[in-house]
This record gives sequence, C-alpha cells and structure tokens, in this order.
Amino acid sequence: MRAWQLTATDGIDSYQLADVPEPDPGPGQVRVDIRASGLNHLDLWVALGLPAPKSLPHTTGADAAGVVDAIGEGVSGFAIGDEVIIDPSMSCGHCEHCLRDEIVYCSEFGILGEHHSGTFSEKIVVPTINAIPKPRGMSWEVAGSFGLAAVTALRMLERARLEEGETVLVVGVGGGVSASAMSLTMALGAQVYVTSRSPVKIEWAMEQGARGGFDSADQFGKEMTALGGADIVIDNVGPATLGQSMRAAKRGGRIAICGSTSGPKWEMTVPALFFRQLELIGSSMGNHAQFARALNLIRLGKAKAPVSHVFDFAELPDALRVLESGEQTGNVALTQTG
Ligand SMILES: [Zn+2]
Repeated sequence: MRAWQLTATDGIDSYQLADVPEPDPGPGQVRVDIRASGLNHLDLWVALGLPAPKSLPHTTGADAAGVVDAIGEGVSGFAIGDEVIIDPSMSCGHCEHCLRDEIVYCSEFGILGEHHSGTFSEKIVVPTINAIPKPRGMSWEVAGSFGLAAVTALRMLERARLEEGETVLVVGVGGGVSASAMSLTMALGAQVYVTSRSPVKIEWAMEQGARGGFDSADQFGKEMTALGGADIVIDNVGPATLGQSMRAAKRGGRIAICGSTSGPKWEMTVPALFFRQLELIGSSMGNHAQFARALNLIRLGKAKAPVSHVFDFAELPDALRVLESGEQTGNVALTQTG
C-alpha cells in the first residue's frame, strides 16, 4: 500500500510517497481502509522535527475515516465494511487517568501521526476504542477531517467552563481549531466574536454566525471591551495576541490557550492578571468522551465542520502548503477513492 513518509525533518519537502507493507490488526484492533484523511498543523510541526518523530521514516496524519477491512483477534461489535471515524487520541487504557477518561493526562498519551504512525496512508490499524461509527449521511471529507481540531476546541471550551448565553472571542479565526471553536461555541448556545488579520475571514466568520470581528493586529481588546467584553477568549496565536486577549476578557474572564503559533515566549503584565481576576487555562488535545460529544454536535447539525480544501491523497504536499499559508477557512482534507 502507499503511505506518505517523512524521511527527514526539513519541512514539507521531507514527505515522500512510499510503498509499504499493509499492517495486520493485532488482538483488539481493526484495520481501516482510509477514504479521507484530514490535515492539522501538527503535520507541519512534526515535519520540522517539533517534536521529532521517534524514528524515521515516519507517517504523520491524525485524522481519518474509512471502512473496516480486517478485524483482529478477540474483537466483537465490528464487521468488515463498517464505516468508521478514527479518534486520534491514544493512551495506555488502564492507568487512573485512562479509567476516568482523562486520557490526556496519561503518561502514554499520544496522537496518531505524532507519537504513532498516522493516517496519511492507504490503511491504518487502530484499537477498537479509536474506531467510532460514522454517522450515515456524513461525507467522507467531513468525517475524516474534523476530529483533532474539534476535540481540541471542545476541550478548551469545556475547560473554560463555557455556559449558555456567554460571549466567546475566538482569536485568529480560520484554521481548524479556531473554526471549530467558533462553531461549537454557537452550538452550545453562546455568542461568538472573532479576530483575523484577513477581512475575508472575518466576513466568512460572520456568514457562519459570528456577531462581529476585529483585526488581530489592531487593539481588539479595546473593541471587545466596548461591546461588553468576553467571558472566554480562545487564543492559539500566543505572544502576538495574548496581551489584547487579556484586555478583551471581562473581569473574571477565562483565556484558554492550546497553541502558540506566533512564538513560544510572552511577557505578561502580571497586575492585569490578578487585578482583573483573569484565568489563563492551558489545554491540549482531548479525551474520548469529548471526541464523542463533538461528533454528536456535528451529527445533529448543531455544529459545523467545514472543509475548505479537498485534495487527492497523492497531493499531500500541495495540501500542506495550503495549511501553511493559512488561507483555509476550516479543515483541509485528502481523499482516497479506495
Ligand atoms: Zn493511561
């Protein structure tokens, strides 16, 4: 079968399409013939060695959906031909964190494509807990691309204790996680404002239901405050926007952070944190129940999981370049005709 492999960590050019042996499912596992997979910024980071794969060659890709085509020993409840969505979160399954489904705290927690061989492959073997029935009527492109972004966004909103009727500001809208955060916020009965450096993306967000939008490079904290402030700010941009994000929050507001695309270090005005009683909340990835809740909101049509670009499996480098350019409004998917 074909699989995209990283043979070095020099960026997108390090991806090579290779012929590799088909994996066989072990006990408790199923093999999935992938119909669509989804791209995440993780695929760009890993290609740069951030973090470096355990070994090379390495196949990235966290998200996918496909058809079960082989079943391992001791597996019940699955049949050949079942359509499934792959939940990319892997963990040991038996520690105290796994037993209460806080798998993100498991010492063996990992994501397909980062810590494990990923979905940019014709087939993949996963434990049955990672193969979730695909709702009827959901397209392969949506099913194969919403996962990691949606579970990450939902976990941020849940960690920030989102309540119905609150106001959420999503900073740097456009990419998968921020687009998911926007859509899930509305699905959960809250109102959303966005920021972007692109007027086109702000317009897109407002078409999706955002109440308003501000320029990320401007004083959006002041503008949000003039409208009453945000109960929650979702910021994955980091140093370039966190100062304004703190200003945008109401007193007692929560700022959830799951990424730092503008760099790793930030200088904070500490009195602004305590006088205004703000909370900074770190969040990363999500657990199986959060994946299921995100899927359910999409299945019911309450949340959207827009796919902005679709490429053929063989065009992964082109798809990664779109992701890198930041021009997408939603997820970027790869399809395989099977
Ligand atoms: Zn565990």
